[in-house]
Amino acid sequence: MTAIQWRNLPEQAAPYDEEAHVLVRQSTIGQLQLCGKRVELAGSDGYLEPVSEPLVFGTCVHYLAEQDLLAGEPRLDLLTNMNEWIEEILVTEYDWTLAQVPNVRNFFDEIAGAYRLWRTTVRPTFRKEPLGVELKMELPLGEGRDKQIYLQGTCDVLFPSRLVDFKTSRSPWLQDKADVSIQASLYMALAKQTFDIEVKRMTFWNYARGKREWIPLHTARTVKQIDAALLSAYEYGLQMEAGIYPATPVPESSFNKKRGWYCSPQFCGAWNICPAKYLADDRDEKTVAIRSWK
Ligand code: SF4
Repeated sequence: MTAIQWRNLPEQAAPYDEEAHVLVRQSTIGQLQLCGKRVELAGSDGYLEPVSEPLVFGTCVHYLAEQDLLAGEPRLDLLTNMNEWIEEILVTEYDWTLAQVPNVRNFFDEIAGAYRLWRTTVRPTFRKEPLGVELKMELPLGEGRDKQIYLQGTCDVLFPSRLVDFKTSRSPWLQDKADVSIQASLYMALAKQTFDIEVKRMTFWNYARGKREWIPLHTARTVKQIDAALLSAYEYGLQMEAGIYPATPVPESSFNKKRGWYCSPQFCGAWNICPAKYLADDRDEKTVAIRSWK
């Protein structure tokens, strides 16, 4: 069993079929890299779907940028009815409501500010028409034991020679984060499969909330790096097909056996039901997870 590579992507591939294929979403890889058990337990009884102010903030800023790019013109009109579309995002994507958001006015103001700044600093750097916005792409990674393994990812913006993704965070991203991102490598292969174009550059536009600034992080990949990412994604797919979801509450790189930041009532929706959570550190181990805006 071998993984597909950059130079031998299939000319034609059947679309992903839930019955016949195993699906590896790019976003799932991020979770598997932290702890496989989170992926196994997601959706089980007692699992809490994540919601938080930073998550919803990012989704809303993405939404404005996406609507702007799709319309090909400013969508300042969306800043006048934020309660309508933000309520819809909250209800449909997070099972939450505006009434549960403290200080709505400040929240809206910060989203509007991020979008206005995006309009004046990020948007003018896009000189060509995008090939796609919020584009769902997929490719077959290789044969599994019984099923084919498929990769799927949704890129924010694809241009003929560059991929672009928007990220929001409290502090600015470091360049290393962009340079080691598996997302960049996988999206390049997905773009080649979907459009038959060779894009090996990506820009992460990072909105650093603490600085109120959009910062570009440019990164590039070699064919070797893309192939290595495809192999990793394939191996994750094989692991998913076999139903192997190792719990890694302590990162492998942790020499002092300290629990990873993600293994906590605040950051893991599986905390209440997980038999593998790591309890031997200095936090309040009796804490029970709740869904909360913070
Ligand atoms: S509680 Fe910890 S070990 Fe359990 S799924 Fe979450 S991150 Fe993994």
